[in-house]
Amino acid sequence: MTSNATTPAQPDMISGAVSVLGLGRMGTALATALLDAGHQTTVWNRTAAKGSALAARGAVPAGTVGDAVQSAPLIITCLLSYDNVRAVLEPNSDALAGRTLVNLTTGTPDDAAAVADWATAAGIDYLDGAMMAVPQTVGTPGAFFLYSGSESAFQTHRRTLDRLATSHYVGRDPAAAELWDMALLSTGYAALTGFLHGVALLRTLDVPPTRFLPLAVQWLDGMAHFMPELADEIEKSDYSTPVSPVDMNRAAVDNLIRISTERGVDARVHGPLLDLLERRIADGHPTDSFASIVEVLASVVSHPERRP
Ligand code: NDP
Repeated sequence: MTSNATTPAQPDMISGAVSVLGLGRMGTALATALLDAGHQTTVWNRTAAKGSALAARGAVPAGTVGDAVQSAPLIITCLLSYDNVRAVLEPNSDALAGRTLVNLTTGTPDDAAAVADWATAAGIDYLDGAMMAVPQTVGTPGAFFLYSGSESAFQTHRRTLDRLATSHYVGRDPAAAELWDMALLSTGYAALTGFLHGVALLRTLDVPPTRFLPLAVQWLDGMAHFMPELADEIEKSDYSTPVSPVDMNRAAVDNLIRISTERGVDARVHGPLLDLLERRIADGHPTDSFASIVEVLASVVSHPERRP
């Protein structure tokens, strides 16, 4: 899968050797997708027994990290933490030199930057990755992965990476993929928390969640169609469109909190948004569009005293 390819690669055309280090839930799914695509796949895991099922499907188990590294030009790591990655890889720096390391472990932007610094000093072509997937969706159109760091590593191995999920390269800064991951989590968590609050509100009328669901989905779909307008306004720094002004939204969120509270439903999840809207009004922008809230969110950069 690829975000812009028109002709998907055929499994029998792909045979590049890959080593996968880490065979937890995600690592096993990654190795499985590579095997299914016809890659020669070497696997290593701290607990070796977790590689047995993959070996039965054709994976080559490596006895040591060093053996796994030397078996392929492309090494994929998927361990629990970046600390694990460093502990496993650093003793094998010499063997890794000249190879490509794609680290799909979840971490912070600082974690990614630190591993990238180490890798660069060791002569390793480093690509950091963030997996927007669960084990069941790896290798399906439901998954997409974000990559940042070495652009040449991404281009060289893109066909292989596309077997795992749709690939998106988000920039040369190795920390970028982890930050994009967080931006997407931010988007999703806020929407899902709002849905859960709506479910709790309708529970006061004995409405089951499954009855609420279709309209909630339709509403969220409408919200998604509103997002290009928000993005456009922010890019142009033009918040003069009066369709959804700050003061109107302040009144709506205030109502939402008041009515929820009257019905015994905890509305604190919406308190932060009310606070942002009120700060934008206090800054003298009551008729600016809803998108202008981003200026309040970003204002801690220039006004650290506003840091929550
Ligand atoms: P698992 O708990 O299933 O697997 C963890 C892996 O890390 C195992 O291979 C484990 O080895 C290895 N490991 C843990 N500690 C060490 C250590 N000290 N030294 C060497 N290896 C170690 O985790 P997942 O596969 O679910 O997750 C892996 C990464 O993917 C995490 O960063 C997670 O946040 C991320 N992720 C997970 C998703 C999911 O849905 N599960 C979705 C998106 C990202 P051993 O088998 O020996 O314990």
